Amino acid sequence: MQSSATLRTVAAAGALLLTSAASGQDLAITNARVLDGTGAVLDRGTIVVRDGRIESVSANAQAPGNVRTIDAAGRTVMPGFVEAHRHIVDGDPNAWLEETAAEQMQEFLEAGFTTVVSAIDPPQLLEARQRIEQGAMQGPRIFAAAFVPLAGPMPGSENQPEGDPARFDASRRERPSQAAPAIPREATITAIENAARAGYDYLKTVIIVTPGGPEVETLKLVVEEGRRHGLPTITHAVSVQDTVAAVEAGPASLVHTPHIGHLGDQPDALQKIVDAGIPMMSTLAVFIPHFDEDNEPLFRDGLPFPWETLSSGGQGPVNARLLWEAGLTSYGYGTDTSWPPKESLIDELRALRTVFSPEDVVSIITKNAAEAALQSDEIGTLEPGKLADIVIVDGDPLEASSALLNVVTTIKGGEVVFEQ
Ligand SMILES: [Zn+2]
Repeated sequence: MQSSATLRTVAAAGALLLTSAASGQDLAITNARVLDGTGAVLDRGTIVVRDGRIESVSANAQAPGNVRTIDAAGRTVMPGFVEAHRHIVDGDPNAWLEETAAEQMQEFLEAGFTTVVSAIDPPQLLEARQRIEQGAMQGPRIFAAAFVPLAGPMPGSENQPEGDPARFDASRRERPSQAAPAIPREATITAIENAARAGYDYLKTVIIVTPGGPEVETLKLVVEEGRRHGLPTITHAVSVQDTVAAVEAGPASLVHTPHIGHLGDQPDALQKIVDAGIPMMSTLAVFIPHFDEDNEPLFRDGLPFPWETLSSGGQGPVNARLLWEAGLTSYGYGTDTSWPPKESLIDELRALRTVFSPEDVVSIITKNAAEAALQSDEIGTLEPGKLADIVIVDGDPLEASSALLNVVTTIKGGEVVFEQ
């Protein structure tokens, strides 16, 4: 321990800001049934963590004598869960930061999520991230996107009612009949510069193509300018038509499974999406209801589920499976919800399990979600060199996905951040 203190400081200083504040202990987890996220299973494994990173994962190994040892008692040990599409800040952003953030961040850790991607949130989220990095607050690793529009408002859209935009989504029923106005090139470039300056990690775009409209060309510009600033572009498309248009511009990740349009009827579209090799986030549950204790079907805004606009939600799982079988392997967990993380997990599992096996779900919430979040160099599997983001769960998630709801220990960057 005495010699590693200096090493740890040096390693932390050289690594990402993310790890610098993690007072990651050196530790060992023994007697673990390890699902490492790559599909491998060790029945009785030992994981050694040093300086916040995984040093080794091996079968039947002795724990080194000089580190804290956690006896997993035969429980399942797997990579920390990754939520690749979430909206975090709720209500007034300053009030959220001071009153709600700490508790909410802890809820992610308790549900097993060590990484959360925000697909648009105000800068107060970046402030919360800073507090986490400085050790003033506990929470998951946070990556955040800034919104960059692809077109101006559609004529008539000023009459749109207030509220969750998904309730009035133009890609759902009657598609736009005329071109949306273009956004001046300089305005797009400025928006991207501002996002970079504010400290965001990605650019989030929403594509709804209009006849003769500027959307694909602007998305190409965003992708290219974003690259210049080290900001990958993540793109919202919820219909098959818009997803096909999006992949043409080559964003880094697609934040939804298309659920409007049946990919089984559109083999060319299916092939085009898969051939693009772009990771995708599941978000199946946002398009189906969440049930409260009064047995009411609800949308993510807490209001009655809008069957008239989200009646196609059931198509999502089927399209997901078609994409998966056609070769889209980077298909990762995301919810696009704002329910408490464990409730969102219950909903998403309900949708995922209609078409994926428990074994596939393990990949979807670990390795694949890290790929969809564009962070698979550092997280998503238990492999030497990766960040020590680890959960211990009671039960066997290869047998029943409900075991993912039984997190007993969460470790982030080698630090135990939740212990039941
Ligand atoms: Zn979203």
